Amino acid sequence: MSATPAASIDTAKVLGHFINGVDVADTNRPAPVNDPATGEITKYVAMAASETVAAAIDAAEAAFPAWRNTPPAKRAKVMFKFKQLLEEHADEIVAAITSEHGKVLDDAMGEFLRGVEVVDYACGIPEMLKGEYSKNVGPAIDSWSEFQPLGVVAGITPFNFPAMVPMWMYPMAIACGNTFILKPSEKDPTAPMLCARLLQEAGLPDGVFNLVNGDKEAVDALLNDARVQAVSFVGSTPIAEYIYTTGTKNGKRVQALGGAKNHAVVMPDADIDNAVNALIGAAYGSCGERCMAISVAVCVGDETADEVVRMMQERLSKLKVGNGTDTSNDMGPLITKAHHDKVRDYINIGVEEGADLVVDGRSLVVDGHEDGFFLGPCLFDNVTQDMRIYQEEIFGPVLCVVRAESEEQAMQLIDSHEYGNGTCIFTRDGEAARYFADNIKVGMVGINVPLPVPVAYHSFGGWKRSLFGDLFAYGPDSVRFYTRRKTITQRWPSGGVRESAQFSFPSHS
Ligand code: NAD
Repeated sequence: MSATPAASIDTAKVLGHFINGVDVADTNRPAPVNDPATGEITKYVAMAASETVAAAIDAAEAAFPAWRNTPPAKRAKVMFKFKQLLEEHADEIVAAITSEHGKVLDDAMGEFLRGVEVVDYACGIPEMLKGEYSKNVGPAIDSWSEFQPLGVVAGITPFNFPAMVPMWMYPMAIACGNTFILKPSEKDPTAPMLCARLLQEAGLPDGVFNLVNGDKEAVDALLNDARVQAVSFVGSTPIAEYIYTTGTKNGKRVQALGGAKNHAVVMPDADIDNAVNALIGAAYGSCGERCMAISVAVCVGDETADEVVRMMQERLSKLKVGNGTDTSNDMGPLITKAHHDKVRDYINIGVEEGADLVVDGRSLVVDGHEDGFFLGPCLFDNVTQDMRIYQEEIFGPVLCVVRAESEEQAMQLIDSHEYGNGTCIFTRDGEAARYFADNIKVGMVGINVPLPVPVAYHSFGGWKRSLFGDLFAYGPDSVRFYTRRKTITQRWPSGGVRESAQFSFPSHS
């Protein structure tokens, strides 16, 4: 998205930043924000200069000592209140998601509620920070491990879940006692800004949570400032790798979640009717713009593939595509014109590569929304491993059917793919399902569950080039990511006992 000259736009329509508890106006390099259903520019968003990011880091650094020493139960109280406010403002936030992302309102509500579940989890922070204690590890010696906050931490998030993905990060980071800077996607910045203001209303002290809008300049300012202790990133794999490499080189703790190509295996014994419905929701929901979207269906046996393709063709013809504000629609538009064109190009590439385009959504026009970024559902059959449409993440309403001869062959395909975010298997055979779940090289696995997105009290992450770093997002891993272990060993000599110097290494023998 290119920046627009500030002189030609209404500066009142430029979204700025939220730093140290106040809205900060800014018209630096404003970038347009679209309603993808109409193609209209509805507002602009400022691209923070590095000095603006430095001001946010100053605020977060200044707020850290007091917040670190705030009792966890008091921090939890802010989270309880925040959750209540989020629920009260749900419709407003969800409407903002739909108007800037394009997804259907019900789907936007689903993402929002999954984010709120992480806030729910963060309300239990006192329990999670209790640490570990051992009495008498030696004569009159006690030892404990505690989990201390890191300091200023940052989150950089993608366009496809503008409310939920930031909530994978900041509720737990803040509850653990850190101060936070969020750099959300410049494509749909309103929902995270609404949440920022609610955090303040919930009683969060100024400076504990800050939001800077921007692009690479803002991200680089966060990566290069030594005061930022850790960075959580979610987005595409090339940027995830860049964030991880640069951040770790600069001494930061980094978790960087990247792209995906999620395969669903359909076994011959599966309940095909249910599997096809599950595939349709998982492949085309949110227009395929989900990192857990199923983009490859590996059908085991030609008969299975033929039946899946036949049923999909029939059902996809009834799928309703239109403005996300109309909840009778199944699918909204893609995020931007540029992304729409990129997905369309992939469909053309698939045809050139020789895959069979059995459902072609390229000619779809939504009445009254001729300038919207719509694309109908597309289904390719006979896709092979060497094709770009198989290898690369398309991130649109495109499902590739690959034919395999056995479960083993289907698993080899998945294991040799560069991504390893999510996968699932449809089968009635417990042994096949168990073998699949146990051996597949993917971070999140579903058994007859097409979108196995872990609930808030588990953790989310992929394997291979879908995640750079060691720890998953939210859940128990987030406590580990946003804290630093310290182990303390103490002895209080009693009765004036004098001890001689000990030269051998202390042990129990
Ligand atoms: P993106 O990588 O383009 O952008 C993500 C963030 O990085 C944004 O905040 C953006 O401003 C910033 N950014 C973009 N280019 C940058 C650069 N050159 N240098 C520094 N920062 C930069 O991703 P996107 O298009 O917003 O989101 C879609 C991608 O995110 C898909 O690949 C999808 O699979 C992935 N995703 C992954 C997960 C997961 O959990 N693994 C979840 C959601 C989305």
